[in-house]
Amino acid sequence: MLHIAIIGSGPAGYYTAEAAQKQWGDSVRIDIFDRLPVPYGLIRTGVAPDHQSIKGVARRYETTALSDNVRFVGNVTIGRDVTIAELQELYDAVILATGAPRDRPLDLPGEGLANIYGSAAFVGWYNGHPEFAELDPDLSVDTAVVIGMGNVALDVARILSKTRTEFAGSDIVAHALDLLDTSRLRKIIILGRRGPHQIMMTPKELGELGDLDRARPHVDSADLPEPADDALLEPGIRKSVGHLRRFAEPSGGAFFGAHDIEIDFRFFAAPHALIGTDRVEAIEVERTTLVDGRPVGTGKIERIPAGLVVSCIGYRTEPIAGVPFDERGGRFANTDGRIVHGLYCVGWARRGPSGTIGTNRPDGFGVIEKVAEDKAAGAFGENAREGGGGFDRLAAARGLEVVTFGDWKRIEQAETDRARTGAPREKFVDVAEMIRALG
Ligand code: NAP
Repeated sequence: MLHIAIIGSGPAGYYTAEAAQKQWGDSVRIDIFDRLPVPYGLIRTGVAPDHQSIKGVARRYETTALSDNVRFVGNVTIGRDVTIAELQELYDAVILATGAPRDRPLDLPGEGLANIYGSAAFVGWYNGHPEFAELDPDLSVDTAVVIGMGNVALDVARILSKTRTEFAGSDIVAHALDLLDTSRLRKIIILGRRGPHQIMMTPKELGELGDLDRARPHVDSADLPEPADDALLEPGIRKSVGHLRRFAEPSGGAFFGAHDIEIDFRFFAAPHALIGTDRVEAIEVERTTLVDGRPVGTGKIERIPAGLVVSCIGYRTEPIAGVPFDERGGRFANTDGRIVHGLYCVGWARRGPSGTIGTNRPDGFGVIEKVAEDKAAGAFGENAREGGGGFDRLAAARGLEVVTFGDWKRIEQAETDRARTGAPREKFVDVAEMIRALG
């Protein structure tokens, strides 16, 4: 019997479990650990609450989780409750699928001022991640600056713009919905250090910004390259740039009412400093010009008033004691998913925060291929490991409150039962509350 521990129950974790099942059938036992009592990682706390169709992929993971040779082991923090070395004693292969839950810092003066958040924290707040439920951003300000030209920046700008009615059918948590309802924001500036041709936004997500009830996107036509230059772009980006051209048309901003919000795209502006006494009051940006596709500062500094700043510039994996880490890349140091003997990584923890949820499927199959190669080469030795049984003994000895998949289904039912009308669930945003829901 082959025993595998997967750390992290998000997309990368489940696709890896699926791949291991395909590879070894009934000859493998898989434990999927999560530090939260609830599964699905990014699907639950990263994917935007108004993108329910994307969250539907969790049903596929559920099929894997309900198989006889897979267990969900929730509410266990690796590195605190149990060490990697202990897991390596118990399992033949330990695969880190812990994602990239930490914000990449801006590394700018003034970054510590109040009402400046990284997207991991801000997205976690409106998605009910227990770690960020208390964030309580100040939305009584007039202008927000969202830094970055990726899909996360779009998510944040859209969530900040929507009316309560537009959240119908979403699972945005009550604390965020209620606070957003009191928002006084009139302007959201999306800031990019490069130009329209260098955005990371995908067409469907960018197009959504043009269909909001009270928010109007606006692009300065002077920032757009010659239309003929779009022909050189990869088709997806070309389509996205088409949306930007639409947002630059004069009618785009013509119907502003007193309660409307302008979403203003500012290109060629690199964040330079954050200004304020206690709270952020403005952001200084340096105008840039592109040299070989890279943004180069022109020395021209401009100050943009901003009472809220959300930085959406990418994520980092959280290091685990004893596991080699690539500081520059912000992920575990690895070669094609191999870290050291018997220890692997997959998904964002392997390659950094890029790609779609589906990108993690080939990644999961890729890491299992490496495990299979190592197994065939005799890397796991002859000694039978204890696997999940050994972990259960360790957990009992330490008094760990392990949450099983059956327990999760009860938590899920309780979340469904307390949902507001039309919403799929009202998430518990506190670990103790989740455990209490189990009775
Ligand atoms: P991303 O796509 O890599 O975009 C990050 C943005 O931040 C880029 O525009 C980048 O600009 C900018 N940036 C980085 N460092 C900066 C700095 N120091 N100053 C100013 N700007 C800086 O990352 P993301 O938006 O966090 O998304 C992560 C992944 O999740 C992506 O693969 C994304 O597609 C995916 N995602 C998908 C969806 C969806 O499909 N609905 C939703 C959310 C996220 P440069 O290009 O100039 O570096």
